[in-house]
Amino acid sequence: MHPHTTVAPEPARVGVFGGTFDPIHCGHLAAALAARDALHLDEVLLVVANDPWKKSLREIAPAADRLALVEAAVEGEYRLVACDAEIVRGGTSYTVDTLDQLSRSMPGARLFLIVGTDILNEMESWERSERLSELAKVAVITRAGSPPPAGAIARWGAEVVWAETPDVSSTAIREKLRSGAAAEGLVPPPVSALIASRGLYGVHPKLMRR
Ligand code: ATP
Repeated sequence: MHPHTTVAPEPARVGVFGGTFDPIHCGHLAAALAARDALHLDEVLLVVANDPWKKSLREIAPAADRLALVEAAVEGEYRLVACDAEIVRGGTSYTVDTLDQLSRSMPGARLFLIVGTDILNEMESWERSERLSELAKVAVITRAGSPPPAGAIARWGAEVVWAETPDVSSTAIREKLRSGAAAEGLVPPPVSALIASRGLYGVHPKLMRR
């Protein structure tokens, strides 16, 4: 090798894991960690949807609260990062716009669009879905109760990450909290504390000591 030749650094491998995160739970965290490790990602961005077009029929916690919960969940987790790009952009959140924005702001980076098995089947109905696999490699994380859909995996050329993520959903957690039960063990402890201090999901706000 010529003495002045430098070896080009490997392009960054960046996971893009979008969600409503209403609230973020241990299943999300396990999925992000499994993707990080299996795909050797330099970082995984947990992208909080501002206005998720798929879920606009029900009431959703304010984006600022959902972002704060994600920030609390990833605190201290190596290479997991809360991303507010969709909130800053405002309006309806389309994944294709986020991937476009990230690929422009991180030229040379290799993007991985991380989704659970339940989502892969519906991705064809997403806005400008044909652009998604041009912008990112699709990676699907196994989710309890949703077997990996072979047809969709082939169509998207998706990489499958086999992970035993806990069988939890935000819906089940919201229902539990609203019924007065605790969500202990289903959400990371700092998330549980923040839900209580902000009085989210019908939880009585804890009185803060002065
Ligand atoms: P809701 O119950 O409100 O529909 P959710 O629990 O499915 O919410 P989302 O924020 O909609 O959570 O999901 C974001 C992403 O996380 C999706 O790609 C989804 O497939 C994935 N995901 C959610 N829960 C799990 C889980 N337990 N294991 C693996 N992936 C999950």
